Amino acid sequence: MELRIPRALGVDGRMFNPESAPRGDDYFCPSCGTFAILKRGEIKVPHFAHKENSSCTNESITHKTAKLLIIQAVSDWKSGRGPRPAVHRECCICEKYFNQPLPDKVTGAREEQRTEDGHRVDVALLSGDNPVAAIEIYVAHAVDSVKAGQLKLPFVELRGDEVISDPLVWDPDQDYFRTFFCKECKRFERKFTESARQLATETGVSLPASFYRFSIHLCCGCSQPMVVFWWPGSSRKRGWPDVDPPRSVRRGSPSEPAWVNVCPRCGKTQPSLEDEPDGPFALPEFWRDASPGDETDENLRSDMRLIIGLRLKRFGPTGWMWSAEEIPGWRYRRNIL
Ligand SMILES: [Zn+2]
Ligand SMILES: [Zn+2]
Ligand SMILES: [Zn+2]
Repeated sequence: MELRIPRALGVDGRMFNPESAPRGDDYFCPSCGTFAILKRGEIKVPHFAHKENSSCTNESITHKTAKLLIIQAVSDWKSGRGPRPAVHRECCICEKYFNQPLPDKVTGAREEQRTEDGHRVDVALLSGDNPVAAIEIYVAHAVDSVKAGQLKLPFVELRGDEVISDPLVWDPDQDYFRTFFCKECKRFERKFTESARQLATETGVSLPASFYRFSIHLCCGCSQPMVVFWWPGSSRKRGWPDVDPPRSVRRGSPSEPAWVNVCPRCGKTQPSLEDEPDGPFALPEFWRDASPGDETDENLRSDMRLIIGLRLKRFGPTGWMWSAEEIPGWRYRRNIL
């Protein structure tokens, strides 16, 4: 069977598309460097054909072509010849997809870069001379989970044929780049954290920087907003945390060692906030048991994103529901227990 080359190298080292490559020039296979023949006639779809007796396969050609197209896209962008490449990514809060443009700090891309941890990646994105992220091209074999776990560089895995059809918007099969927030969610997250901090100060409750996940909730007694807390295994195992709890987290009663959130204004004990369907921690991910691994910073951040995402889904980006102005008829009570 004839080998087809989707993009061929010209004498200047650029990749050419068979639809637009000038006739009469020389073209080469990006993978093995042998001559490629431009076939653009009336009947067949334009393509480059590979000469016989070559070690190339469709896989090796796709793999190499995709790598070179990525490197060319980055270098065209940096030299002002082309647009800035972007990565199609899922926002970690609203779960919608956006094209995230490559950041300015990326200054180039290099093929077959060896990383500090001894792996070789298909393409490294560079900042100066330092690899800052990796791109793996998937043709026949996906990046295995062992390598994925060992790679210290943030990386994405792209399908070779998808890169060839669009080298400017990368749509990862696996995305281990830094967590992505869309602009709206970034604003939302900031406002959420500020509001919680303010509310905590107003009610004389500390907002710990570690271990405690928090949200904002209207008290079931006085209907006023309060900061409420959760931590891994808090309700299932009825475990008491090692880290000092904020003063609004208390034991339910001496005979029942469960922890509860207590309203700092009226003293009312709140129901289980992950079991109530409209509770601020009503997430299936929160019905897990405690294990020491749950207490990493990354897990804390990831739980906070789930909490904030839940809030966003319920109330929308402007439905705050916890400041005096936004709750009609709400009269602020200053008496703090
Ligand atoms: Zn070849
Ligand atoms: Zn978002
Ligand atoms: Zn209350």
